[in-house]
Amino acid sequence: MFSVLLTLISLIMQTDYKLISHILDKKNIGSNLEIRGWLKTKRDSKGISFLNINDGSCLAGIQVIADSIVLNNYQSLRADLTTGCSLRVLGRLVKSPAKGQEVELKAEEITIYGPAPATDYPLQKKRHSFEFLRSISHLRPRTNTLSAMTRIRSRLAQSIHDFFRNHDFYQIHTPVITTSDCEGAGEMFTVTSLDLSKPDGEHNPLDYSHDFFGCPASLTVSGQLEAEAYALALGRVYTFGPTFRAENSHTSRHLAEFWMVEPEMSFFDLDNDMDLAENLIKFLVKAVFEQCREDLDFFCRFIDKSLRKKLNAVLKNDFTRISYGEAVNLLLKSRRNFAYPVAWGIDLQAEHERFLAEEYFKGPVIVFAYPKSIKPFYMRLNDDNKTVAAMDVLLPGIGEIIGGSQREERLEQLTARMAECAINTADYEWYLDLRRYGTVPHAGFGLGFERLIQFVTGLTNIRDVIPFPRTPGRAEISSGKAEG
Ligand code: ATP
Ligand code: MN
Repeated sequence: MFSVLLTLISLIMQTDYKLISHILDKKNIGSNLEIRGWLKTKRDSKGISFLNINDGSCLAGIQVIADSIVLNNYQSLRADLTTGCSLRVLGRLVKSPAKGQEVELKAEEITIYGPAPATDYPLQKKRHSFEFLRSISHLRPRTNTLSAMTRIRSRLAQSIHDFFRNHDFYQIHTPVITTSDCEGAGEMFTVTSLDLSKPDGEHNPLDYSHDFFGCPASLTVSGQLEAEAYALALGRVYTFGPTFRAENSHTSRHLAEFWMVEPEMSFFDLDNDMDLAENLIKFLVKAVFEQCREDLDFFCRFIDKSLRKKLNAVLKNDFTRISYGEAVNLLLKSRRNFAYPVAWGIDLQAEHERFLAEEYFKGPVIVFAYPKSIKPFYMRLNDDNKTVAAMDVLLPGIGEIIGGSQREERLEQLTARMAECAINTADYEWYLDLRRYGTVPHAGFGLGFERLIQFVTGLTNIRDVIPFPRTPGRAEISSGKAEG
């Protein structure tokens, strides 16, 4: 009875609030609709205004035609109808006579929710530099580039869960606060509840026994070690969450807070690990083609003209797999003048990675068997005693997107490696237990989510593929007024 009444009421009212992405279709022509969003542009011509309104549900937005009758309805409407104002439009969807869109909305009523004074609103209709947009990170999602990036980012986060679900993985929520330093690199943010403004006396910040956890704690640099514990119980697990590194790198591929996807698999060796990494990247690129068509088109047109070719190359070909030794030989043979000279034993730098992926192989490359001296303690020692079962996936334009390895599952080898790396085993007794009780061969990797978004959008700076980037010296959100 109640629902019949509701249907009746909605029939009488005959307007439906809809997301713009849901109405941009010829089949809706003739419907009375209501849309809500923000005004992107306004163009006046012969007593008619053409408004482009976007509600974020898609890139295109909708063209609204407002004639003088509608515009004269409200005193303030003409003045308030400026770029950035929020509004509600009721009208009838009609076939668009103009090129560029199939349908448009003929307004019958317009209401402003909130104005955005043209004298003040920083996002006027013009192309702004990415740098300026970073200074107004609270407003930049209203630009085409950032909104398209955000939709792709959201879809891909979902696709990551789809991929692992398809492959029988369980998601593990590993802790953000940790007391184990996964990389042993000492680039961690300390977590404390001590009052750092009173460094002496009772609250001496160096006395961690007075601290919240009674010991030093930090923000995690990786969920891997904890994921290993769950892989050794549930078989195949992954964690997908924020990770933190206090490294002082001012590059276009490093953030202090970034998101990492870390699968960990029991009974996987390094080849299985590489196969999974390759399949994951292909799956995610395919998802962008299939689910983000409009936004991808935008990036191909305005950000990187070679993007489609680059993404297609990932889908079509097997990733090249070469050992670290082969990679070093190729780099030496290239006779390039690298800023970092090449020799067996060096850590590959961005310039080396990019030479391999961009110039030499012109596609994704997986480099495996790195010298143990440049890799963390938990990677499995190869029989040569010099290299470990590590692998990095390198992408053109990005360099390293994935770092992974088969883990050292043998207690004796693991403790020997820890001693070599001057790691105090007392801090890792729980980790060693995983080798003492029911150890199995296992492997995993970490994929940098932002680097993936960089790859599929062609955006060259990692600060533009995360909503609120954190980099050295920058975590606050500014109003942009000073910089504008
Ligand atoms: P790089 O050599 O590029 O600094 P890494 O070897 O230190 O990276 P890993 O510890 O292997 O990085 O982390 C796994 C993945 O996480 C990397 O392959 C990369 O995609 C991503 N990643 C690492 N550090 C950062 C960072 N500071 N900002 C964004 N992504 C990162
Ligand atoms: Mn790495």
